[in-house]
Amino acid sequence: MLKVAKFGGSSMADAAHYKQVRDIVLSDPSRTVIVVSAAGKRFSNDYKITDLLYLCYAHIKYGVPCDSVFGTIRDRYLGIRDELQMDFPLEDDFDALFAEMKSGISEDRLVSRGEYFSAKLLSAYLGFEFVDSEHWVRFKFDGSVDQEASYEALCHAASGRKCVIPGFYGAMPDGHVKLMDRGGSDITGALAAAALDADVYENWTDVSGILMADPRIVKNAKTIGRITYSELRELSYIGAQVLHEATIFPVREKNIPLNIRNTNDPENPGTMIRDSFEDDLPTEGNLITGIAGRKGFTIVTITKNGMSSEVGAIRRILGIFENFNIAIHYAPSGVDCYSVVVENKQFDPCRYSCLAEIQKELSPDHIHVSENIAVVAVVGRKMVFRTGSSGRIFAALGESGVNIRMISQGPEELNIIIGMKERDYETAVRTLYERFIH
Ligand code: ASP
Repeated sequence: MLKVAKFGGSSMADAAHYKQVRDIVLSDPSRTVIVVSAAGKRFSNDYKITDLLYLCYAHIKYGVPCDSVFGTIRDRYLGIRDELQMDFPLEDDFDALFAEMKSGISEDRLVSRGEYFSAKLLSAYLGFEFVDSEHWVRFKFDGSVDQEASYEALCHAASGRKCVIPGFYGAMPDGHVKLMDRGGSDITGALAAAALDADVYENWTDVSGILMADPRIVKNAKTIGRITYSELRELSYIGAQVLHEATIFPVREKNIPLNIRNTNDPENPGTMIRDSFEDDLPTEGNLITGIAGRKGFTIVTITKNGMSSEVGAIRRILGIFENFNIAIHYAPSGVDCYSVVVENKQFDPCRYSCLAEIQKELSPDHIHVSENIAVVAVVGRKMVFRTGSSGRIFAALGESGVNIRMISQGPEELNIIIGMKERDYETAVRTLYERFIH
């Protein structure tokens, strides 16, 4: 049994968390490969080390002394070390970094040092080896991860060993350090799990898993115990913020379960994400796995007598949106009428040119623009097995006075997408939660 455990910034924020991390790691001998983030916030108006490193680089770039910001970063790590009463000389590493900053350092290399110092410190604290991501996460020249080369390099460096790995960075083919997107340590963890064919990838954070609905709307929303990768994709697409999107791919590809856990509540089993659950009984449990959504959409409806029989009309409509670089999120259609649901932030800047183009290209009878639309996704792998699911969902919304403006259901019946006026959004989410989640 091999578990890759990734600990996020909040789990690496101070000495008390290091102790919790150590207890978690040592409580299970199969947790042998640990991936870490840079130290995160200890309290709400604290600084994240990664942000301070970006700030340091901005100082260097504009020729402003950064001694004080650098001092804050250094003190944070040395403070953790001292509080843990470790005899581990990090000073030389910091001095060398400061010298490098004076002689010219790339932004990526400087910012990557947050994860580097976290991993160095934790590896010494656990008595595990330190495996630098610079030596195994390989990027191609186009910036994508070279999975084959990376997996091979990690197998070589880490197989059969207990080690701590810094997240968030790797190396370009010429050896230069390259960062991933923000939140990228999740991806490093997933790559490590995939490379080593781990039995599970544990992602330790400061919440006990994925919530069934937005806690700002539903107070005390429950945690999702089990969710499939496809369901998670549906929820995160529309707004549930869980993991970095690219995290899922390497583990899903290898069918490795992903378990989201809470460092502050290690007994809680958190959320388990898998391709499927063998012991899942379609008729038991909640109909809905989770609800997500967001505001800020517009529905453009194009109506033209005879359009449904006109070859190429839909392609031309889609082509116009494509030319304006507007992504189409949903496209419900009827006879002689076709709607697209687009995001305001993409549509608004070019709305009139886009509508003029539709007018010119298709000569429709009518173009209707419906603004201030919110979209809610009701996601549940069990909906397909239960007759009347959508009827019950729509009835519940109707009873709460939510006027439905758009409906779309994926062919796999994994989700039901409902568009409504933004003012009805919170009522809709609350109603669905109260009626369908027990
Ligand atoms: N430290 C990086 C960030 O703040 C990467 C990570 O934590 O995943 O984005």
